[in-house]
Amino acid sequence: MNKHVMIVPCSGIGKAYGSVGRDALYQVIEEMRPNVTATVCLSLLTLGDADAQAQVRESPTITIDGCPKACAKVNVEAAGGKPVAEYRVFDVYRAHKELKVRSVSNLGKAGHEMARILAEEIATKVDEISQQ
Ligand code: SF4
Repeated sequence: MNKHVMIVPCSGIGKAYGSVGRDALYQVIEEMRPNVTATVCLSLLTLGDADAQAQVRESPTITIDGCPKACAKVNVEAAGGKPVAEYRVFDVYRAHKELKVRSVSNLGKAGHEMARILAEEIATKVDEISQQ
């Protein structure tokens, strides 16, 4: 497969789990799998930007959402994309209730750890997709 895997997090401004999702995104695209992943601005998708929409239609796309409103998934689908995997930060919290995010602007050690756990799950999924 020669296309990058697109990873689209929700914007999640003002929501701690939105911040965790973005932290996880950056860990994957900048540190864990920089050569095979990319992202696109959710706002561009929402605004109907043709290039952004084409990227999620033509590349395998993973979404990360901070709450059940699932803005990343909804907007990828509205752009004609079909996510190959959908992640919810709350699921990580459910599995690791000992991790309490400090605040929206300062995730604290536990929040970064939650993001790292999510990032590792996503990186594993990226490997699976890339090998198809
Ligand atoms: S999914 Fe939830 S946290 Fe993320 S942008 Fe939408 S409303 Fe905000």
